[in-house]
Amino acid sequence: MSNLDPEDWESLRAIGHSMLDGMLDNIRSVAQGPVWQPPPEAVRGMFQTAPLPQAGTDLAQLYQQFMRDVVPYAVGNRHPRFMGWVHGGGTAQGMLAEMLAAGLNANLGGRNHIPVDVERMVIRWAASMFGFPQEATGLLVTGSSMANFIAILTASRAVAEGGAIRQAGLSGRPLVGYACASAHGCIARAFDMAGLGTQALRRVPMDADFRMDVRALECMIAADRAQGLEPFVVIGTAGTVDVGAVDPLDALADLAAREKLWFHVDGAFGAMARLSEAYAPLLHGMERADSLAFDFHKWAQVPYDAGCVLVREPGRQAAAFAQSLDYLSREDRGLAAQAPWFCDFGPDLSRGFRALKVWFAIAGFGTDGLGAVVTRSCAVARYLAMRVNALPWLELMAPVVLNVVCFRVVALQAYDPDWLNAELVKDLHESGVAAPSTTKVNGQVVIRAALVNHRTTEHDVDIMLDMLHSLATARQSEGQAGPG
Ligand SMILES: *Cc1c(COP(=O)(O)O)cnc(C)c1O
Repeated sequence: MSNLDPEDWESLRAIGHSMLDGMLDNIRSVAQGPVWQPPPEAVRGMFQTAPLPQAGTDLAQLYQQFMRDVVPYAVGNRHPRFMGWVHGGGTAQGMLAEMLAAGLNANLGGRNHIPVDVERMVIRWAASMFGFPQEATGLLVTGSSMANFIAILTASRAVAEGGAIRQAGLSGRPLVGYACASAHGCIARAFDMAGLGTQALRRVPMDADFRMDVRALECMIAADRAQGLEPFVVIGTAGTVDVGAVDPLDALADLAAREKLWFHVDGAFGAMARLSEAYAPLLHGMERADSLAFDFHKWAQVPYDAGCVLVREPGRQAAAFAQSLDYLSREDRGLAAQAPWFCDFGPDLSRGFRALKVWFAIAGFGTDGLGAVVTRSCAVARYLAMRVNALPWLELMAPVVLNVVCFRVVALQAYDPDWLNAELVKDLHESGVAAPSTTKVNGQVVIRAALVNHRTTEHDVDIMLDMLHSLATARQSEGQAGPG
């Protein structure tokens, strides 16, 4: 063997075609299997102890092992009754785009080749989708955790004109930022990783509708300024992770303009609601943000991973990240032309061709098709909320704004409702019938169904509730009567 290409291309082609057929069949029939099943100890043990291979293994054999030991024990987010956390369902079309991208093996850190222009196109389309100017810069990244981190870094560097922070570090500069108590954990982690410290992230209380209290925010900014601290950013959330609430984005944009602060929006899943005519008005003000983080791999159903950061003002992102290095010199022509490069907009130099699957999703389904998914998910969420309200053994625990429904089983007196609902969610997971997750709302454990998957219908909600009813009856009949 002189290189790693197959010795027999025809037999590779045959295996390749059977892989393609196998996975297409698997996606097509995903609803017929369990959502999730616990990985057997033997399978886990095999991966924990497999020694480093010295000799090669036949591709057909590796494929067999993948089908037997990996596929049945995946997380289950492709299944229509996966309602846990906030996961996209993926598409067969996205899988094919991934295959093409891997075949090309392009590195999108920079240089003069069309894959980079595909990402530039996707970023320009994203700017249009969210009402940002066409000159806005942006970057495809792993997910919103990275997108939020890049935005916070860009914001913190923007306050120190001339890039002083980049050379001298913070040097004790007391920068502080603001996000609602309900903000995603990755915001605090961004402050941590940026060296600002998590204490520099001020947590603003929420109102009765789980939205940031703008009056409280104003008071906190004034108090911090009076203490000699230096506010630099306000972070609003479009679609909170626990209940799907949307902060008052337009009021936050006004306040940020008045206070001369950077306005960032975490729109990880919720930003996509802008593509639905019915739900877009909820996000009013998001288009005024200085930066926006969102995911293509959640509501837009692009296969993992595909997040994105957009920055309104051209030059800001490069000011935060670009370096000039001899081995990355930019030329007027040749392969090293066409700067700025994507490596100037974030921490990664080598980057894959995520843009291809994003292009295929936006162009393949159109913004109408993606918007229709959002509208459908929200309709299914409303249906679930309606059923919860109609059933005496269930109670709704938060208003349903978008696609997240928080509810719980009313416990009989003998049971701690937090314990009961947490147990019931684990029971549901192990049943294989449905997989919602839990969160806390006003300090109480609730069942949280995030309707994100484009395959989920009202019928799936019915099946999930029927199973939940049987499980709740079984648990509570040990005590007194069933849950009714
Ligand atoms: C999912 C989510 C994140 C994190 O995004 P990843 O893509 O998982 O890194 C951040 N904020 C919100 C509101 C989310 O829902």
